[in-house]
Amino acid sequence: MSSDIDVSSGQPIYILREGTERSKGHEALHANIMAAQIISEAIKTSLGPKGMDKMLVDSFGDITITNDGATMLKEMDIQHPAAKMMAEVSKTQDDEVGDGTTTVVILAGELLVKAEELVEKKVHPTVIIDGYRKAASKALDVFEEIGIEVDPMDVDYLKRVAMTSLESKLVSGAAPHLADIAVKAILQVVEKSEDKYNVDLDYVKVEKKTGESLKATDIIRGLVIDKEVVHSDMPKVIKDARIGLLDAALEIEKTEFDSKIRIERPEEIQAYLDQEEGILKDLVEKVKAAKVNVLFCEKGIDDTVQHFLARAGIMAARRVKKSDMEALAKATGAKIVMTVDDLTTADCGYAEKVEERKIMDSQMIFVEGCKNPKAVSIFIRGGTERVIDEAERSLHDALSVVKDVVVKPKILAGGGAPEIEVARRIRRYAESLSGRESLAVAAFAEAIESIAVTLAENAGMDPIDTISELQARHEKGELWSGIEANSGKVADMKNLGIYEPVLIIMQAVKSATEAAAMLLKIDDVIASSKMRGPAGGPGGPGGMGGMGGMPPME
Ligand code: ADP
Ligand code: MG
Repeated sequence: MSSDIDVSSGQPIYILREGTERSKGHEALHANIMAAQIISEAIKTSLGPKGMDKMLVDSFGDITITNDGATMLKEMDIQHPAAKMMAEVSKTQDDEVGDGTTTVVILAGELLVKAEELVEKKVHPTVIIDGYRKAASKALDVFEEIGIEVDPMDVDYLKRVAMTSLESKLVSGAAPHLADIAVKAILQVVEKSEDKYNVDLDYVKVEKKTGESLKATDIIRGLVIDKEVVHSDMPKVIKDARIGLLDAALEIEKTEFDSKIRIERPEEIQAYLDQEEGILKDLVEKVKAAKVNVLFCEKGIDDTVQHFLARAGIMAARRVKKSDMEALAKATGAKIVMTVDDLTTADCGYAEKVEERKIMDSQMIFVEGCKNPKAVSIFIRGGTERVIDEAERSLHDALSVVKDVVVKPKILAGGGAPEIEVARRIRRYAESLSGRESLAVAAFAEAIESIAVTLAENAGMDPIDTISELQARHEKGELWSGIEANSGKVADMKNLGIYEPVLIIMQAVKSATEAAAMLLKIDDVIASSKMRGPAGGPGGPGGMGGMGGMPPME
């Protein structure tokens, strides 16, 4: 209960609603840092190729198995506000550059832990924040400086970057194949404007179906629609497809009010049926008149209409998803029309081939060789649903890193080498500063080095020996000395061709620094009672029920 004592009367004055939890000053900071640290500790073990996976079970019992930082944090039912911020940092990283989502959380967590040590030594949070910002800007300069410039269209480098991202995933067994697909897909959709390249990832559609194995995952120059051809007499393949997209039902419109038809003589029944058939035939005539030979309909198609369409040699699918209709429009150049009367030859789209194929026990429609050459899909196959789900997430990362290099063609060799180098230079920079700020700058160096420490730990190496060896090598000018996690040895990461886009770590430094600064500035947490988790219970995974670790104010 939050109250203040009115000195004159000795009566408590209630300012905040009963049940509100409040913590102030160092205590608030400590609770926030602890929450952030719990998140970063939980995620640490999944960094790098030797990182572990997490199995997350939601309240419906659905299982997700993943190694992706952003996914883990999204699936966890996090309660604590500071812990939620960590999840947001990871999401930002995912949205901005698509990878490095574990790295950013570890970095932010480590920055906060180091900050707390400084606060205990009586360094004020604002001094720490200033120091961190200076160090971060220095780090960005160093990454720019040591980054290796590449030709953004060099397929070999792009593939290596995709491989590095995929090798640390559950689906690493199929990494070379998936990397190849990711590069092909990006090169298909890349756009050049002046001397810069642009990539719109929305052009790359992902469709998935269990069965076969990850190695059967394929790139399709067009779209895959998870629908079957509506009538068995319709053609299964159409070359030179003229595609119509209709957002209306091919049925007799039902009246909005109840009506009765009185039929008095038997001939009238026939006349009525003939008339109805006439109307339906008319609908098909309109489709034929527009020279459409493949029709995708967002709504239903009447049985009789199906029959007439089949007779006219037209392929059709019904109840196609809105998102698929839009993708078809973008890919084939067709216009989605609202009534069959609006269907014209000019509104038709084009694809070289539309084909229904049997995939496992269902049918899917492949639309290939579309008018817009940027239309490309990745058709993921894999033994189980969980495998294809993780493959989809991993492909997202791979596509993103390839995009990152195409957009900013600069790469680093990974395995902790850049972090060790940056830490070394930032330490030197700290020595040039005076006073408490230099402590904060040095703490930043430690924090960024913790990425390399974590990689070493996860690879089963002795972190202290490994880091001191790396530091010594970097001191001698071995810029790309890092941790080869698979063999658990120190190696030249450039020779091994383990590359990643410079954008990833630069974005991670920016977001982690901002997040740490934001949390460090908070000296008062006021949470209304509905913020609390189940009373006294352990809340979500990690045991962060309610404002865990924060004693209520009396
Ligand atoms: P994130 O979600 O942050 O991308 P990952 O689990 O993908 O986390 O791990 C990325 C880290 O793993 C990077 O620091 C990268 O340099 C490192 N890494 C990738 N491949 C290797 C490798 N073969 N050996 C050592 N480190 C690697
Ligand atoms: Mg990664």
